[in-house]
Amino acid sequence: MLPSLFISHGSPMLALTETPAHAFLRELGRRLRPQAVVVVSAHWASRRLMVSTSERPETIHDFGGFPRELFECQYPAPGEPELARRLARELNAVPVERGLDHGAWVPLSLMFPEADIPVVSLSLPTQWSNAELAALGERLAALREENVLVIGSGSLTHNLYEMLPLGAEMPPWVGEFADWIEARLTEDDRESLLAWEQAPKARENHPTPEHFQPLLVAMGAGGRAERLHHSVEHGVLAMDLYAFA
Ligand code: ZN
Repeated sequence: MLPSLFISHGSPMLALTETPAHAFLRELGRRLRPQAVVVVSAHWASRRLMVSTSERPETIHDFGGFPRELFECQYPAPGEPELARRLARELNAVPVERGLDHGAWVPLSLMFPEADIPVVSLSLPTQWSNAELAALGERLAALREENVLVIGSGSLTHNLYEMLPLGAEMPPWVGEFADWIEARLTEDDRESLLAWEQAPKARENHPTPEHFQPLLVAMGAGGRAERLHHSVEHGVLAMDLYAFA
């Protein structure tokens, strides 16, 4: 059975820049062959839960100030309207037409460069409680038995006000939070994770919660966590990737 994944997608430049996280996603994708992907990305925040029924989801370049090459990237993976409509019914989600935001297409373009695996996007209802987000994950868990890869795409740490150059070292206040989360995940201490705002330096690392919340969905969808990758970009973007097997 497939694990669920939490992927730190970092900067959109991850698509083009050969960092350790970029190389790891390429390698990870070679080991997985899901029938479809269901992705919850930090970049589709909504009030109500929504699901994309697009047959041909467009590549959304939802960022500014990057080189033209990045705007020219296309990720033409098909959607899977049938699965999307089923999720709409089962999860009481609003079906809409929507493309793939960069939280979805950037990591998927590295994992599955052939763009031949259908992708269904679910929105991130950012006003839901941590417990509700984990419960959403629990309702997606059965998909793993159908060889559907459930991905939460965010960033383990994400304070864009404190961005440093790409190769900068991780400041202690970033490491403190990342280590606390790793310890809680390793212990499978879900109660503490559902109160992650109490973690040391949580507010500094997540001035807003949307890049952490996809981890709760991925956690709900899977079993015990294993950190498959750890690196840092721009000092403050921990690129950690967790599998919940
Ligand atoms: Zn992001």
